[in-house]
Amino acid sequence: MLGALYKKILVIGGNASGLAAASQARRENPDAEITVFESGNYISYGACGLPYLISGQIKDINSIFTYPPSFFEEKRNIRILTGHRVTAIDPFTKKITVQLQAIRQAPSAFINGSGLAGNAIKCDNETILLDYDRLIICSGAKPVLLDVPGANAPNVFYFRDINDTLSIQNFINEKKPESACIIGGGSTGLLIAGALTETGIKTTIIECNRKILNDYEKDITDFFHNNVTGYENKTSSEQAISGIKIMTGVKAVSFNASHTTGSIYSVTIGSCDGTVSDKFEIDAGMVIISAGITANTGFLGTGRIDTGIKNAIKVSGMQQSSINSIYAAGDCCLVKNIVTGSFEYIPTAANAIKAGRVAGANAAGGHEIFEGSVDTKTDMIFGMEIARTGLDSKKALEYRFNAVRITDTYPSHMKALPGSGNIFCSIVIDKNTRKILGAQLAGAEGVSKRIDVFAAAIAGGFTVDRTYMLDTSYSPWTSTAPDAINRICGKAISILKSLK
Ligand SMILES: Cc1cc2nc3c(=O)[nH]c(=O)nc-3n(C[C@H](O)[C@H](O)[C@H](O)COP(=O)(O)OP(=O)(O)OC[C@H]3O[C@@H](n4cnc5c(N)ncnc54)[C@H](O)[C@@H]3O)c2cc1C
Repeated sequence: MLGALYKKILVIGGNASGLAAASQARRENPDAEITVFESGNYISYGACGLPYLISGQIKDINSIFTYPPSFFEEKRNIRILTGHRVTAIDPFTKKITVQLQAIRQAPSAFINGSGLAGNAIKCDNETILLDYDRLIICSGAKPVLLDVPGANAPNVFYFRDINDTLSIQNFINEKKPESACIIGGGSTGLLIAGALTETGIKTTIIECNRKILNDYEKDITDFFHNNVTGYENKTSSEQAISGIKIMTGVKAVSFNASHTTGSIYSVTIGSCDGTVSDKFEIDAGMVIISAGITANTGFLGTGRIDTGIKNAIKVSGMQQSSINSIYAAGDCCLVKNIVTGSFEYIPTAANAIKAGRVAGANAAGGHEIFEGSVDTKTDMIFGMEIARTGLDSKKALEYRFNAVRITDTYPSHMKALPGSGNIFCSIVIDKNTRKILGAQLAGAEGVSKRIDVFAAAIAGGFTVDRTYMLDTSYSPWTSTAPDAINRICGKAISILKSLK
């Protein structure tokens, strides 16, 4: 049995992909010694819930954890070592170097790992060297750092993990800032802006691109943007999150600190084309930088394991890296885009968990394949949903599809009933094969359930004709007859006919 060869399995990273990998390795190989190294104090939490700790919509930090370390140790016989940072890997001798971290205050049920690793062959109190048969790298992503004067001030934050979240929360509770500037108008920037405005902080997002959410088509983003910033005019509960200002085509030139406190009080903004004359200043009692992420793979050293875009680890469908004994999964590695066939950086929780399962099974001697992703994403921000799957029109043309894009707006449910809103729909179709290549939707309700149908249609290679015929559900409170999904496909079929 292959599994018997892979007795010592080490996993780097104790969150979504790492714990999925460790758990699947255990299912595959009941006899393996499986150890998870986590540099932080926490394991098994949903980073996706972090914005809502700041907004106060999640009150108890313990509720964002799925399992405590004791669960993995007692129920799955997986050793969890928190406060253990892997600092180097030697694929040739099959050893990793682990540095012990200072443990910070944390919710008690979740921080206690089992202490020092038992198979250490060298220990100088701070660093240990361990050998492995199979290694699984699940080290996630890290924020892109911004090189702007003042970025080291105490009220300039990044937002990626629990420690960042606690620092932001503490700062808000203690200093009660009235204004904030978010650098970056991607979905994380928008989520954190939503959380801050929910607490009453006047928030400005600045985004260097000409539009926020740059991975969406412009008209979808415009629809979303206009609805979000129009919130002041809506009902009283919605007004609680008003005050958001979004500025595009601009960047932070400097974070301006007070000479007495060292803290930032304003941000100087300039146009992204570098024009000096149009600089201006906005108030900012705090700054949160959310300027993108890259794979957290710096500790691997250069040239030992093949990496690609954003330093993400290149893997096969079995999640195997360029080194046979090393597997990887999650935000630290590339994912195959099912539509284009190319490996891309698609960092989502679902991809991390599915790829983690495959990596774990294979590291333990199994033979499983992660087929990849159609790059599906959804966000709900300021009461508006926006979602995408597959290719946008630009990417479809880049990949030389004979692409056409069709757009329209349909009601989310029967117009006569309260709460019905518009859903802006965009689909991209390959005129040669009639297959759906991509879909993007924005609107007030039911966007993600519809994007999931498109995601399934794209992954299944459905034509627009077959997608039109899908038997979607209808009731006056939930959809129209037929649903927006069928209607946009129906329109596309008519347009394709007229193009002949
Ligand atoms: C604010 C926020 C909101 C999000 N919202 C969504 C969402 O709505 N939908 C969605 O699909 N995705 C969302 N994501 C992304 C999602 O959280 C990630 O895709 C997912 O967590 C990736 O899992 P992972 O295991 O690869 O990485 P992570 O969850 O980042 O885990 C990696 C772990 O490895 C540890 N580690 C790193 N280096 C080392 C080392 N050298 N030694 C030991 N341990 C190490 C880290 O401390 C970390 O705990 C969000 C992320 C954030 C930050």
